[in-house]
Amino acid sequence: MSEPENIDVLIIGGGINGCGIFRDLSAQGVDCVLIERDDFCSGASAASSRLMHGGLKYLETGEFGLVREALVERNRLLANAPHYVSPLPTILPLRSHFSGIWPSVKRFFRFKAKMIDRGSLITRAGLLVYDTYGRRHKSMPFHRILNRKALQKLVTGMDSDIIAAGLYYEGQLTHAERLGLELLLDGEKLNPGSRAINHAHVIGTQGDCVTYQQGDSIQTVRPRIIVNAAGAWIDAVNHELGIKTALMGGSKGSHIIVEHRALYKALNGHMIYFGTADGRVNLCYPFMGRVLIGSTDIPVEDPDTARCDTQEVSYMLGTMREVFPDVDISEEHVRYRFCGVRPLPRADGDIGLVTRDHSIAEFTFGPSTPVLCLIGGKWTTFRSFSAEAAWRILAHLGKPRRTKTEDMAIGGGQDFPRNPADRTRWINRVADVSGLPAGRVGTLLRRYGTTAERIAMTCTEETMLRSLPDYSSEELGELCRSERVGTLADLLLRRTLIAMLGRLTAEVIEETAGIAAAALGWSNRRRVLEAVSVPLGEPAAYRQIDDAVTFKAHG
Ligand SMILES: Cc1cc2nc3c(=O)[nH]c(=O)nc-3n(C[C@H](O)[C@H](O)[C@H](O)COP(=O)(O)OP(=O)(O)OC[C@H]3O[C@@H](n4cnc5c(N)ncnc54)[C@H](O)[C@@H]3O)c2cc1C
Repeated sequence: MSEPENIDVLIIGGGINGCGIFRDLSAQGVDCVLIERDDFCSGASAASSRLMHGGLKYLETGEFGLVREALVERNRLLANAPHYVSPLPTILPLRSHFSGIWPSVKRFFRFKAKMIDRGSLITRAGLLVYDTYGRRHKSMPFHRILNRKALQKLVTGMDSDIIAAGLYYEGQLTHAERLGLELLLDGEKLNPGSRAINHAHVIGTQGDCVTYQQGDSIQTVRPRIIVNAAGAWIDAVNHELGIKTALMGGSKGSHIIVEHRALYKALNGHMIYFGTADGRVNLCYPFMGRVLIGSTDIPVEDPDTARCDTQEVSYMLGTMREVFPDVDISEEHVRYRFCGVRPLPRADGDIGLVTRDHSIAEFTFGPSTPVLCLIGGKWTTFRSFSAEAAWRILAHLGKPRRTKTEDMAIGGGQDFPRNPADRTRWINRVADVSGLPAGRVGTLLRRYGTTAERIAMTCTEETMLRSLPDYSSEELGELCRSERVGTLADLLLRRTLIAMLGRLTAEVIEETAGIAAAALGWSNRRRVLEAVSVPLGEPAAYRQIDDAVTFKAHG
């Protein structure tokens, strides 16, 4: 064993909760090491519906505190991450005025109740509470109830049984994986004594020390505190630390991305948040020229086995036909599918009724090292959950809180030009200094927020890809060098939306593997191995979002 390095906090797991606590503690001057066994935000944090929302449906289960907290956090994200989080007008279709009252009462008391339609009375009450909780920061307009005629003007082709709709606002997160990474990079900037490492895993423990390995490098640390932020794998990580727990009971959730021009057009920029015939709540919304449809909620014992299977794809397509009966949608429109495991606390009964709130469980590793397990939580509430955990850790360490994170801008959200005039000025200035055309700088701004300026400066003479003419070799090379790209999948699935938007082809993989190899000094053998390990076709042995399937190559 190498000489142990004394550190304040070891964080195991680099999903959004690990990333959030890393930034918060680093901002307080706490030295953290975060290790993630795969890539950052490759677990549940890559597989969410990407809504920054209060969770209207949690009002039904009486989780008012969670909804209030999430709405406040949603508003903060709109302010702190304006490059990736934006308002999403949402339609809640109604098939009756009075239905849903009795099932709502039952669900409130956590009894199983099938609820296909909430009815306008229940919906009005829910939206009123929602708006009241979310009105701080005044970031979203108030809700409205639309009659059929008004609805028809906004969204066309909805089932004729839908007599009215609620119109309200959620937040939409486009680049979830990038936002998580930005928190880590910000954390390292705030405290150079902190570091976040992907593709690293624990290989042993001894006394109060933990040994981990990344590639050929083996390190031993002696943390004063351990944070277990391994999501659905919390019990497995505890086991590695010699702690027996049965805290987690995950549920898998899948989504698909479809390319369907008529559906995209019908949505007209709106999300539809609808009750399904089997009593669940599903959604679909326009996602960067495609449509995102989700989700499922199926209990799983082993998170490593979770896959988005063909039955789930059929189910999700079927729910779309319930809402848009005339839209001809089938498997051939699917460009991408993904799946993740919600890290829910273990509980008996209907998985849909298990709390989506977060909690912290504390154990001891070795003689006396506290282990804090971060259980559950929404993507939306990562900041408040991190702050809560950070307070506890600071108390353990006897350190004061130096700064709050409520108003801390994230990554490329710093100094982001918020209105069209400021954006034009920003784009023209960066176009001037980099020599790139303004249109290209605009694309980079949309992809990377204000980090685009640094990227633009590395692209002053750029070569666009043959297989993806809107990306340049210099742009992707810079991402590889500066954003902890460890595998080709990191680049294609998480640093960019290339895979998610169904743009993976054999040519794209071949060309980008060459760029990554040049940027990261991979051998020819490694380049070939990386290229073949990116899934193109039916998945075999990959896990989680790496199971991405491009059913039909785009373009
Ligand atoms: C289908 C679905 C839809 C959702 N929709 C939304 C939504 O719209 N809005 C919202 O706010 N929330 C949503 N959520 C919830 C949200 O995505 C999760 O609660 C959140 O991402 C959990 O983050 P986490 O960091 O705890 O877990 P994860 O993101 O799973 O991170 C845990 C990490 O630990 C790593 N790990 C595991 N074992 C080890 C080990 N031994 N060593 C090192 N690392 C390890 C994993 O690789 C993983 O990256 C959704 C979740 C799902 C699954």
